[in-house]
Amino acid sequence: MSPDTGPLSRSPGPPGARPAGAGTSEFPARAPQRLKVSFEFSPPKTETAERTLWETVTRLTPLRPAFFSVTYGAGGSTRQRTHETVARLKSETGIDAAAHLTCVAATQGEIDDVARAYWDAGIRHIVALRGDPPSGMGGKYSAHPGGYANAAALVAGLKKIGNFQISVAGYPEKHPDSADEQADLDNLKRKVDAGADRCITQFFFEADDFLRFRDGAAGAGIHVPIVPGVMPVSNFQGIARMAGLCGAKVPGWLAHLFDGLDDDAETRRMVAATVAGDLCRRLQGEGVDQFHFYTLNRADLTFAICHLLGVRPR
Ligand SMILES: Cc1cc2nc3c(=O)[nH]c(=O)nc-3n(C[C@H](O)[C@H](O)[C@H](O)COP(=O)(O)OP(=O)(O)OC[C@H]3O[C@@H](n4cnc5c(N)ncnc54)[C@H](O)[C@@H]3O)c2cc1C
Repeated sequence: MSPDTGPLSRSPGPPGARPAGAGTSEFPARAPQRLKVSFEFSPPKTETAERTLWETVTRLTPLRPAFFSVTYGAGGSTRQRTHETVARLKSETGIDAAAHLTCVAATQGEIDDVARAYWDAGIRHIVALRGDPPSGMGGKYSAHPGGYANAAALVAGLKKIGNFQISVAGYPEKHPDSADEQADLDNLKRKVDAGADRCITQFFFEADDFLRFRDGAAGAGIHVPIVPGVMPVSNFQGIARMAGLCGAKVPGWLAHLFDGLDDDAETRRMVAATVAGDLCRRLQGEGVDQFHFYTLNRADLTFAICHLLGVRPR
């Protein structure tokens, strides 16, 4: 999309691929039966953050997501809190809960122990990741000498422990460490061949970037669902910083939409819901029927976008 067209313009897309109502000015009254959503949280650090998270969970649970997932802090720093949050989500909501797990700063034995503890606690879904260097996103990664070298190796290791359902990461704009898009797809293929069931993408703002990636994955023989990771942008400066580190581009039209709103949180939220809702509806119009939301532990934007997509409390 060019900066001039803005987020509300439409791409024609292939004929016949659109569910009724998507990609037109009509909003669907109800989501098509097959539309699935999932919600990502991070483990809370303080009592206040914990309260906010559980209020968020209470609001989002009636949308009956396919699963919740809980991130894993750099170098295993949230190991205990991730476990507690995942276990509580599953037992209190009855909804599938996935634990993120990374290879960073741990031996294979240590990571295997974490995975076994999940299996023993009845957690059967892992989001398997390499992780970022302890210095943070954007630094140079080197594997722990006794650890798993990368996410593909982790997936293979997890499959030896139990028949986990496994989600892995994908990058519509390629991972910054990958030489080119083909190397990135080859890496995703290795993860799928090792046993991954689903790819959840890094966030992105141009529907075309996702669609090109989805086509590339299909062309590379990757046949698991490719689920777009949707980041509702409520804090533009923060997201722009994060995007720079993880190789996602911030289009000029997006910066323009948030221009002048630094002191106007309410309008920012309305714009954020509109932008993310529009992205999701474009993707829905191209046959995407699963969405993973980076909730940042807040309910309102994700709830509003789900509502726009026709996902209602059940
Ligand atoms: C949905 C999602 C959830 C995330 N959750 C977390 C989280 O909870 N905690 C966290 O710390 N981070 C998280 N991340 C960030 C992630 O850890 C980083 O993006 C990390 O830099 C790469 O992880 P990966 O699993 O994609 O790595 P990998 O798939 O291992 O790939 C990383 C890079 O290494 C290259 N590579 C791998 N193997 C080889 C090989 N054999 N030869 C050549 N090149 C190779 C790949 O091409 C790629 O460029 C998440 C990302 C996403 C998209």
